[in-house]
Amino acid sequence: MNRSRYRMKKRSRRTPSGRTSLLIRNKKPKIAPCALCRTPMGGIPRATRTEMRKLSATQRRPQRAFGGVLCGACTASVIKTRTRLQSGIADETKVPLTLMKYVKMLKA
Ligand SMILES: [Zn+2]
Repeated sequence: MNRSRYRMKKRSRRTPSGRTSLLIRNKKPKIAPCALCRTPMGGIPRATRTEMRKLSATQRRPQRAFGGVLCGACTASVIKTRTRLQSGIADETKVPLTLMKYVKMLKA
């Protein structure tokens, strides 16, 4: 099968004149998952690349740190970990490496 056709959604449709025609549309992409916990994130539209380009930047993803990459809960834990490391409460060796990656991004 043609790779471009694979992403198409087909539906047969009856026209007002009685003929049946095939309605072909692009499939919507899946809900964007969080990079850490893989839960579906809110605030991001299920739009195709072309539809996404027509939206304004603020409509494409949440306007906060890691908006469109991490979910709210994961963002909170990253910020908490960063603050605890800065104040010297937490130990850097005990922080999971996957979380540490985003903590370091926040510092910069
Ligand atoms: Zn998450």
